[in-house]
Amino acid sequence: MAKKESFSSKCSFCGRQKEDVNLLIAGISGHICDLCIEQAYAIIKEELHLQKPFDPGDATLKTPAEIKKFLDQYIIDQDEAKKVLAVAVYNHYKRLSQNNADDDVEIEKSNIILVGETGTGKTLLAKTIAKLLHVPFTIVDATVLTEAGYVGEDIESLLTRLLQAADYDVKAAERGIVFIDEIDKIARKSDNPSITRDVSGEGVQQGLLKLLEGSVVNVPPQGGRKHPEQKMIPVNTRNILFIAGGAFDGIERKIANRLNTTVVGYTAQRSADHIDRTNLIQYVAPQDLKAFGMIPEIVGRLPVIAHLNQLSREALRQILTEPKNSIIKQYIALFQMDNIKLSFDADALEYIVDVAIDFKLGARGLRTICEVIMMDIMFETPSKKTTAVKITKKIAETHLNRFNAGRLKAS
Ligand code: ADP
Repeated sequence: MAKKESFSSKCSFCGRQKEDVNLLIAGISGHICDLCIEQAYAIIKEELHLQKPFDPGDATLKTPAEIKKFLDQYIIDQDEAKKVLAVAVYNHYKRLSQNNADDDVEIEKSNIILVGETGTGKTLLAKTIAKLLHVPFTIVDATVLTEAGYVGEDIESLLTRLLQAADYDVKAAERGIVFIDEIDKIARKSDNPSITRDVSGEGVQQGLLKLLEGSVVNVPPQGGRKHPEQKMIPVNTRNILFIAGGAFDGIERKIANRLNTTVVGYTAQRSADHIDRTNLIQYVAPQDLKAFGMIPEIVGRLPVIAHLNQLSREALRQILTEPKNSIIKQYIALFQMDNIKLSFDADALEYIVDVAIDFKLGARGLRTICEVIMMDIMFETPSKKTTAVKITKKIAETHLNRFNAGRLKAS
């Protein structure tokens, strides 16, 4: 009896007494304390991770057509960008599976650059791809990056963010996706490469090169210069997929120049009348990015170019209701939680789109407009005994006018 007492009051793994631990869990013929559980869990996590390196051949690898279908659920239009991205991601993952050093043909990295006005879905595309692939994903703004020694964030901080997104699992981070937003903002200010060095532009592009081409980079785990004593973590960027995005305001002029002046090459075969001058962005090519101020090496490291079209009225209307997690679906779900049936009249939706167009707010403005319209309604309805709310055009107009729609312009 006494024997059983002592057996039951201590951990069978570490021998700690019951009073020395927070929790002692009984098994058939032993006990385990909370500290040992935690330690065992850490071991399991580490072991499983080491045993199971990423296998691109598993269920996560979908065909390009399947990837595009997935993107279709969230992103309206932009078919070309979706196709290009689907193929690039598919190839990237095939490349990951080719870790065999004996292979004669080494498949090169397929980093991507998305060109299109703001609010056309570049970030959304990158985010949705990351969701599909279940890999660590981070968005960084190129405008905050500076060369080492200048005020701003070191270029390596981009990998710090990825490490954080991967919960410091270096192996996972090394196959993650980094979306570099506003890459156009680090373009060289002049097309003349001999101009005196400009801090924000060319230096950062040079710094990015190292990351894009694949190398081992020492990454400060906490980021930046605030923690000089921290131990650097080496991260190999060879298999990290970089997706850059930028509006490249005014690039149409560079495209037009090229199309007008090209006399040889395949573009010459496309007669001038076949060029759709209303949508020049569709012809964007690496030379245009160079003309815009991206250094040739960077352009070379972003071999896959895709453009995003300006969203049509019809597309804006679809964005409101059609994506899997569309704005309107989100409001309906919110109201549903209070057992209120929310609906929108078709002309109320048309009105929201009209306002977005009038104020040149694009897709990004749709949510702002809806928030303004719904604010009072969301404030009032939960305290009323309402079971249904219908948003008519009149209601939408009233709420927007009360807010003073002019204020939207600044947002
Ligand atoms: P960008 O990165 O091109 O500036 P975003 O991807 O951040 O634009 O788009 C802003 C918001 O507008 C998104 O969160 C999304 O709600 C909406 N949006 C933009 N384009 C689309 C699209 N093609 N399909 C669905 N929603 C879109």
